[in-house]
Amino acid sequence: MPHDTPLIATIVAGLGLAFVFGALANRFRIPPLVGYLIAGVLVGPNTPGFVADAGLANELAEIGVILLMFGVGLHFSLKDLLSVRAIAVPGAIVQIGFATALGAGLAWMLGWSMGAGLVFGLALSVASTVVLLRALQERRMIETERGRIAVGWLIVEDLAMVLALVLLPALAGVLGGQEQADAHASGLLSLPASYGIWGVVGITLAKVAAFVIVMLVVGRRVIPWILHYVAHTGSRELFRLAVLAIALGVAFGAAKLFGVSLALGAFFAGMIMSESEPSHRAAEESLPLRDAFSVLFFVSVGMLFDPFSLISNGWPILATLAIIVIGKSLAAFAIVVAFGYPIATALIISASLAQIGEFSFILAELGVGLKLLPEQGRDLILAGAILSIVLNPLMFLAIDWMKPWLERRAARTAPPVEAKPVGPATEPGQVASVAAAAKKEDGPPPKTTLTGHAILIGYGRVGGLVGSALKGAAMPFLVIEDADKTLAKLKTDSVETVAGNAANAEVFAAANPEGASRLILAIPNAFEAGQIVLRARAANPAINVIARAHSDAEVEHLKGLGADTVIMGEREIARGIVEEVLGSKPELRRETAEPSVA
Ligand code: AMP
Repeated sequence: MPHDTPLIATIVAGLGLAFVFGALANRFRIPPLVGYLIAGVLVGPNTPGFVADAGLANELAEIGVILLMFGVGLHFSLKDLLSVRAIAVPGAIVQIGFATALGAGLAWMLGWSMGAGLVFGLALSVASTVVLLRALQERRMIETERGRIAVGWLIVEDLAMVLALVLLPALAGVLGGQEQADAHASGLLSLPASYGIWGVVGITLAKVAAFVIVMLVVGRRVIPWILHYVAHTGSRELFRLAVLAIALGVAFGAAKLFGVSLALGAFFAGMIMSESEPSHRAAEESLPLRDAFSVLFFVSVGMLFDPFSLISNGWPILATLAIIVIGKSLAAFAIVVAFGYPIATALIISASLAQIGEFSFILAELGVGLKLLPEQGRDLILAGAILSIVLNPLMFLAIDWMKPWLERRAARTAPPVEAKPVGPATEPGQVASVAAAAKKEDGPPPKTTLTGHAILIGYGRVGGLVGSALKGAAMPFLVIEDADKTLAKLKTDSVETVAGNAANAEVFAAANPEGASRLILAIPNAFEAGQIVLRARAANPAINVIARAHSDAEVEHLKGLGADTVIMGEREIARGIVEEVLGSKPELRRETAEPSVA
């Protein structure tokens, strides 16, 4: 049966085992990603038992990369990208240079050619988009300044690698490999070697520029037009399909026509869609697909790995890993600090880039194909990728642990920057948002000094209105929010905030639930809200909990978990409408579990 349907077998085995091992990993408090990689090793050709189709797995993984970058694009504007160029461009270039030098050094010690050293070094210098995005997403950092720097940095690295992929075949002869192998260069990507180095660089840059211009001029008009047209049909299904077709189509077109990477193409498609608010919201709905496919990415990486190579290649693997994890991190850290960013930012950037992934595999394959890189080089790159991806979550733990120490050292050399003095905590509006300021630094947010206050979670369409009413009534409260833009606005309004996901124990504890009198849940996700209710009840049995829901089932759920009052949004909307139409206070009673409109 699997012989007849290799695609289905690969998807089922990949997702199924990834789920089992991801859940197991989670059980042992290891990131699920490690479980996905193990699942990949198990369905790979190097372990006995079922073997999935590696070629298919790779292509499925590519879809994951496309959708991930599309999602990033949705959260990224051209302005964001330009705002980090001052650090991202020099940062990426210096880091690539440093890593390449180290890689070439190791290659030299292993007795490889200069060309092999160059390919090997380049492969070690570029971080994996998927791993970086997953790490930032898990920590909800994509939309923070650090997240933007890391993503911008990665985009510069991506561009550099696109250039390397195009240049290598042309330069293979000079570097001691085989002149021009067409096997790997597809579409317009292959350029005749006769153009010379600068010719090839020039043409490549021109193609990237052409792609960007086409997207900004044509894409910017056509994509919103298509979305408007489809929205007009009233079919949600067609709309989602349009979003998906545009994301995949632009990525594929970018790669085939312009020689730009799939990831970069998808990123641009997302960025263009993010410019209009409704299409942005709608496009986000189509993202669950992304998660499934990014899991397949990790499975496909696992498949390439031969666990036995760990034994035969002992010290070179350790040296490769050291370059990726230590060498690259030190370079990134030094650059970010040299640019005057706080130590915490430098640590996050270093940790998020201390791994390698998909681009490295592509480069390694190309190098081997051009007879530039020995097969051992590809094995080292693979092992280095797997190990660095597995170690990556630990890097984030390590920086949490190192940060206080580094900061103390830094404080000894330079006087610490004092936090703004906090006003007397008599009025809610007066309390400066220490927590929001402290969000720039990581670790648990500082605990509020408020007592007898209300904790308002979420400051969007609902929480925003609640908050200004509380302010008007001079009721002491603080807000837990995780959207940066909202936090910034709250800060200028000098409302006290705790930044982060309220479902996170440390974040919630910083709001002093033990000492609070009320908890107001103004977030739309009833599952998250339920977790928070449980936590609040455990901390303070007497606290009064008011929650927001969108269906009768959610009302039941939240009440079951201990909410005192649950307001069903749709019922209140109906009430407003009835009031408008009939001109009287309608009979609809809130918080009952009957159908909304009788
Ligand atoms: P709205 O649906 O417009 O009322 O917006 C909900 C608000 O709650 C948004 O500003 C979100 O950023 C915020 N939000 C949603 N979930 C959480 C959470 N778990 N922790 C903190 N803020 C949240």
